[in-house]
Amino acid sequence: MLVGTPAVSGVTYAPAVRPGARPRVAEAADVVPESDRASEQAALLAAATAVADRLRGRAARAGGAAAEVLAANAAMATDRGWLGVAQKLIAAGTPARAAAVAATDQFAEMFTKLGGLMAERVTDLRDVCDRVVAELAGAPEPGIPVPQQPAILLAEDLAPADAAGLDPSVIIGLATSLGGPTSHTAIIARQLGIPCVVAVTGLDAIAAGTPVLLDGSSGRIVSDPDPDLAARAVEQFRARTARDAAWAGPGATADGHRVEVLVNVQDGPSAQAARRTPAEGVGLFRTELCFLDRDTEPTVAEQERIYHEVLDAYTGAKVVIRTLDAGSDKPLRFADHPDEANPALGIRGIRIAARDAGILDRQLDAIARAAVGRAPAPWVMAPMISTAAEAESFAEKARERGLIPGAMIEVPAAALTAEAILRHVDFLSVGTNDLAQYTMAADRMSPALAALTDPWQPAVLALVARTAAAGRRLGKPVGVCGEAAADPALACVLVGLGVGSLSMAAGAVAAVGARLAETTREQCRRAADAALTAADPAAARRAAREVLGSTPGD
Ligand code: PEP
Ligand code: MG
Repeated sequence: MLVGTPAVSGVTYAPAVRPGARPRVAEAADVVPESDRASEQAALLAAATAVADRLRGRAARAGGAAAEVLAANAAMATDRGWLGVAQKLIAAGTPARAAAVAATDQFAEMFTKLGGLMAERVTDLRDVCDRVVAELAGAPEPGIPVPQQPAILLAEDLAPADAAGLDPSVIIGLATSLGGPTSHTAIIARQLGIPCVVAVTGLDAIAAGTPVLLDGSSGRIVSDPDPDLAARAVEQFRARTARDAAWAGPGATADGHRVEVLVNVQDGPSAQAARRTPAEGVGLFRTELCFLDRDTEPTVAEQERIYHEVLDAYTGAKVVIRTLDAGSDKPLRFADHPDEANPALGIRGIRIAARDAGILDRQLDAIARAAVGRAPAPWVMAPMISTAAEAESFAEKARERGLIPGAMIEVPAAALTAEAILRHVDFLSVGTNDLAQYTMAADRMSPALAALTDPWQPAVLALVARTAAAGRRLGKPVGVCGEAAADPALACVLVGLGVGSLSMAAGAVAAVGARLAETTREQCRRAADAALTAADPAAARRAAREVLGSTPGD
């Protein structure tokens, strides 16, 4: 059994397939006799057209981001500029395959010099060229095979076009030896609903054709498992998914202990879409995500309109709006971030207000205006609070405007002093993504450190427990809004640690709600104790599973 980082949940069992090799083109190619050059040009055009047609066909079957990537690559294959350069080279005697590569090199150099988004297209450009060259050589299409029967794809990592072109009816599972849970491969797999495990060590040892059982929730991959056991695991997961889909809320444990199940949103449309889930409100509205492409600060009126859309989607319900968490992995151009050696440890989140209070003041004004006449008043929380003084100053500004103030607990110092912070605000929300990053001193964006930033780390759970205890002592709510809340087994552990609300991606709501509904509060407590005293994340998962009962997908 191999273990990687879980990226997209689901249990599947099928033979392994591997991407086709990239074609090679001899550097010193022969000169094409003049009489053959016209047919060589025609062959290139035919190959490019065939590749473009195939990519366009896949674009039509795909949706969303995947369709866009594929359509753009199809256009690249028959781009007149690229074909023109290649045809000229053939006219001068270069064979078609070498001409395609040389033309691609020219464009790649140009795109690289242009930098930015253009430079990012170089991988796609080379990928398209490889496909054309393989077509010319009559070789199998490089990149992703299109198997006749459902299969599990094992690869080092996927080119964007390959990931976008996956057909979930035949590629029913994906495992990569590189990548992280936030890599483009994982994001596209999530969009396509393909169970996926990334950063798997030892994946090369599984040969194409070997039957594989892949569990995208636990990150486990078993090669050549007992077929009956594998079929049972898949069936159990199907039954589990059906039970989840039947959960209608509101959130509570099996013995009726209330736990708010909330959703994370990023703008009006995502809040509207989240209404289709049984989530009872919004636990985290990441406002900075609305403004990532802005050069200038949005006006109060503009902000008011956007916040209004989210509040409108959840009329009468709890909505927690997080003030701008700009900086580090989410820089906002208008926030005027200084050049820092360590942006994750720099001026980000609430720290921006210490340099320039205006951005926060104007945002709170906009939220207050959007909330006029609304009951209940929106809850607002500040990201990256490290001290009680920061919480105090934020709370004052929020209360002046009739808003309910809270603090995010994302920094170990804040978890350790949660009680002092909570004296100033009305609630706390634990951001386990950053809390794990800062507790473990491990960049949350680094695939190599994914095991350290695992929210099952007992040290992270201990800080959540301490934060929840502060809430109990002061009689104020404490929730979790990081990715940890989206893991059904971990959600039970968090409830056992004393957390009263869980906010998560819309896609996780049913699974978490259903799981809680079948688990008693006492089981949650025992699972929490077991996880807290475990030596590492894997042991914590195992220990919790023993208490909660094993479900495929844990
Ligand atoms: C977190 O850090 O857990 C969190 C919810 O905030 P973000 O992921 O937006 O940093
Ligand atoms: Mg955070």
